[in-house]
Amino acid sequence: MTRSRSLDERHQDARDTRRIWVKDAEDGMAELGILGPAVLVHGVYERLTGMATTNEKLVEPDAAGEPDERTLGQRRADIALDLLLTGAPAGHDTDDGLLAAIVPQVSITVPVTTLIGAEGADTPPAELDGRAPIDPDTARRLAGAASGWDRVLTDPITGAMLAVDRYRPTAAMRRHLKARDQRCRFPGCGMPARNSDLDHTLDAALGGATEEDNLEDLCRRHHILKHHTPWHVEQHSGGLLEWTSPLGRTYIDRPPPQNTITFTDGSGINPASGPDAGSGRAVAADRGAHPPGGLPKSARPPDPWAALPADLLAPF
Ligand SMILES: [Zn+2]
Repeated sequence: MTRSRSLDERHQDARDTRRIWVKDAEDGMAELGILGPAVLVHGVYERLTGMATTNEKLVEPDAAGEPDERTLGQRRADIALDLLLTGAPAGHDTDDGLLAAIVPQVSITVPVTTLIGAEGADTPPAELDGRAPIDPDTARRLAGAASGWDRVLTDPITGAMLAVDRYRPTAAMRRHLKARDQRCRFPGCGMPARNSDLDHTLDAALGGATEEDNLEDLCRRHHILKHHTPWHVEQHSGGLLEWTSPLGRTYIDRPPPQNTITFTDGSGINPASGPDAGSGRAVAADRGAHPPGGLPKSARPPDPWAALPADLLAPF
């Protein structure tokens, strides 16, 4: 005879099914679900309610004098997302906050026309991670305001990729260097440039200029190695780096040959550009055929971000 199992036993088994899920919804929304022990989940809801209610009493009209008219439900949702995106997991973290330092990364794909504010039924939507459509307003705000976003810009006509970058203050220079270096420039290192530090070949403190022929991408490990060991590096024209080991051996590291997408724009968004301006399509160009260092300045692809309104770039 099998004894029926107690709630205790069944709960212990059920706890093993705890999980989180995300479900895409209509109109640029998505659901986040949590299955967990009832005590904790109700505790979470109760805490959110307490925060939302208190927030409702505290919040004053914004700078424009508009009252904050969010409902209790909207406040709960906003606070929950705020906590999840920026809070620290105190019960799980290391002393130096390893987990709290993890930040989310997502990609949005935004047609240029959408980003610069064209409206209309045929304005193609932006896409989150290439699958869920998001509204143009959100796309524009995120592209302009959040430093944690990689931006992927595509041609509105062909859909071809124009540029991918992580936008920071000296963006033009950084983009150029990321494109030139593609990877950490220590000989043999394959760490992608997007995960690397931009380093002054000759230290700024020693008079090194912040110019492309005195900057190179180094991964964290080789950045530290360069500064704290007898390794020495000099940069020659065309981004060619000459490394000297502590034993005096030299290694030459050249920028990788480039197979890049060159955008030639005839759509009027960025008319002042490029040797082939007017063709209105994306062209794959093999820059490996050019001298080391890539194309001369005058022949470089147009800066696809240059047409963006200044207020998008302002936060940087
Ligand atoms: Zn490296």
